[in-house]
Amino acid sequence: MTAAAAARTILTRLHEVMASRLHPQGKLDQVVQIIGESLDSEVCSIYLLREGMLELFATRGLEQSAVHVTRLAIGEGLNGIIAEHIETLNLAEAAAHPDFAYRPETGEEKFHSFAGVPIVYRERAVGTLCVQHADPRRYEDVEIEALQTVAMVLSELIAHAGLVDEESSTLGEALTGPQVVTGLTLVKGIAGGIATFHQPRVHIDHVVAEDTEAERQRVYRAFDKMRDQIEAMASQAEFGTGGEHDDILETYKMFAYDEGWGRRINEAIDSGLTAEAAIERVQQRTRMRMREIDDPLLADRMHDLEDLSNRLLRIVSGQLGTAATQGLKRDTILIARNLGPAELLEYDRRRLKGVLLEEGSLTAHVVIVARAMGVPVLGRAQGLRGVVREGDEILLDADKGIAHVRPNQQTQDLFAERFAQTRQKQAAYAELRDVEPFTRCGTRIQVMINAGLRDDIAALSLVGADGIGLFRTEFQFLVSATLPQRERQTRLYKDVLEAAGDKPVIFRTVDIGGDKAVPYLDSESADGDENPAMGWRALRLGLEREGLMKAQARALLEAAAGKPLYVMFPMVSEPWEFDAAKEVFDQQLVWLKGQKKLLPDQIRYGAMLEVPALAEALDLLLPRVSFISVGTNDLTQFLFAADRANPKLAERYDWLSPAILRFLRRIVQGTVGSGVELGICGEMGGRRLEALALLGIGFRRLSITPVAVGPIKDLVRKVDLAEITAAMTAWLSSPPLSLRDELSAWAEARGIEVD
Ligand code: PEP
Ligand code: MG
Repeated sequence: MTAAAAARTILTRLHEVMASRLHPQGKLDQVVQIIGESLDSEVCSIYLLREGMLELFATRGLEQSAVHVTRLAIGEGLNGIIAEHIETLNLAEAAAHPDFAYRPETGEEKFHSFAGVPIVYRERAVGTLCVQHADPRRYEDVEIEALQTVAMVLSELIAHAGLVDEESSTLGEALTGPQVVTGLTLVKGIAGGIATFHQPRVHIDHVVAEDTEAERQRVYRAFDKMRDQIEAMASQAEFGTGGEHDDILETYKMFAYDEGWGRRINEAIDSGLTAEAAIERVQQRTRMRMREIDDPLLADRMHDLEDLSNRLLRIVSGQLGTAATQGLKRDTILIARNLGPAELLEYDRRRLKGVLLEEGSLTAHVVIVARAMGVPVLGRAQGLRGVVREGDEILLDADKGIAHVRPNQQTQDLFAERFAQTRQKQAAYAELRDVEPFTRCGTRIQVMINAGLRDDIAALSLVGADGIGLFRTEFQFLVSATLPQRERQTRLYKDVLEAAGDKPVIFRTVDIGGDKAVPYLDSESADGDENPAMGWRALRLGLEREGLMKAQARALLEAAAGKPLYVMFPMVSEPWEFDAAKEVFDQQLVWLKGQKKLLPDQIRYGAMLEVPALAEALDLLLPRVSFISVGTNDLTQFLFAADRANPKLAERYDWLSPAILRFLRRIVQGTVGSGVELGICGEMGGRRLEALALLGIGFRRLSITPVAVGPIKDLVRKVDLAEITAAMTAWLSSPPLSLRDELSAWAEARGIEVD
């Protein structure tokens, strides 16, 4: 008999039992009879987890008096091992196994062979199913397969009947007990919460099929849909979908068209499972096999298959939402392979405490958004999914680049202390709110914030910044399901200006494209961009899509009626682009004048300097602009030819490299005496050591993430500009091995904390 046929015969009978009106215990009693008979096994037993112990719940062949009496700890005896490791055992001589634990009350001494499988519910072992036989023989693969399939059905029965308390269930060795995950600090901070997967696991309600053919069709349709999705992802990847990298997509494709995978799912359906259960069954089998193989490369690929399997499950079950759609109920540490900025913004900011990513890099927009939200992020956390499960408690220490999964009491106490210290530090920084940042030598440094969300407005007065040095208008586009109409834009800009009062707000026109893709603007022109960061984005797209730019220009001009307006254009690569963008505003201004509308009382235009070529045309640009803001996120990716979103390059180049600092210093020198205001608005300005270097090469205005305002003001007050300028000049003319190390030592020697 084939595995499928064997399982199917059992499943048909089990189905009747499950549909019967018997009480749960009665059903289990029947189940052991059916399995024992079908596999021609003298013994069949079910152990379920109760109060942290495996308890014999039903048996055919062992002493009935042992039912609800025999209890095994996790890891004790063969059943304990199966539950602990979530593994299958198949032994010709049970007593020969080192973990065999003899229980006289069961009368099992007559039986030699033993095969057992875990009963898994929501990735946790909730019990075991085993068969025993007097003959010392190993069970055949078909029999083991049948047992495994039956165990799946049992998990449904057990869950529905509430036969095990979930709290006490275990997940096997790898997923119990405290573990530490290491990664790359993307946004500093500490946080605690419950692990929540961005793509939640699908919960399977029905395991046994009513109509096998219908289930098969459902899987076929789901496969088709999944392949379409992958093709779409591959074609969109050029426009930057937020991290689906080529190699992953290639692996996805490979699996999506893999006949073996489809065939195994088909066989599982043949055995009587529903489409969902069949997909899960195959995945379980792969997972079990993976535990036996110790190859990190293969493990990576298996994660891809797991992703895809989940995708297939979501399609087939119609459970399509992310954790954001379902809403966060408790303080949460979000777990994802990677996220787009828009996806992160969908989460409730009050509940989202931290993010753990398997990928990610420092200047990816999702990280910028997280930083703006004040949410710590740990990236490049390898092997995350092998260690964390939904609902686990996590203490994230992004300062140290680690996350504690299921922390022990000692770690929890340590964190409680650190939380208290952080609160204290924040309180100290908060005291700087109304303190103007003067250096020790008496120079006033402008500390502004980067913003983009409506909620950010509050930060302005909360942290005591000098204004908004970069308002990323595209965030409104990113969080919106459709293109924000002009009226909505006007409303937001008005609110921002109102909240800012007398403080300046520099509105940057939309910078869409790159990793900031919006679904409703799938510009045909962007298709085929092999390198979206250098492609059809920001002003390039804006100047082409005039309607978009005109609407935004009008919205800004109207919102600033009777007030000063600062407008900044992103990704200006040549001075004429600045002229062309300004022309769009000028035209709108003429129109508004014609309508006798109240106009802004002053308009100042500026450019972002984030494309290196513009630095070489500084003399041409300066007469045109009132201010320049250096965007070091993009600038450094272009200088080093290193994609800012590429996780493999995240740690490779340092902002404190002579190349970057010399380049930046030339910009400062080129601007001196021009009357054009110069600032920096990349992420680097918000880090204390980097800010120190920037002060040392002549920057006097930093626009940074709101949470950094306190720490940077504090830094400014400790700096003597002549001293740091001299040090930087020396280091840049003859660079040390590590400027970072030198600068850190220099700062520490002067009592300046750089962390
Ligand atoms: C930059 O590139 O440094 C910048 C501030 O803009 P964004 O990060 O939005 O591209
Ligand atoms: Mg930029």
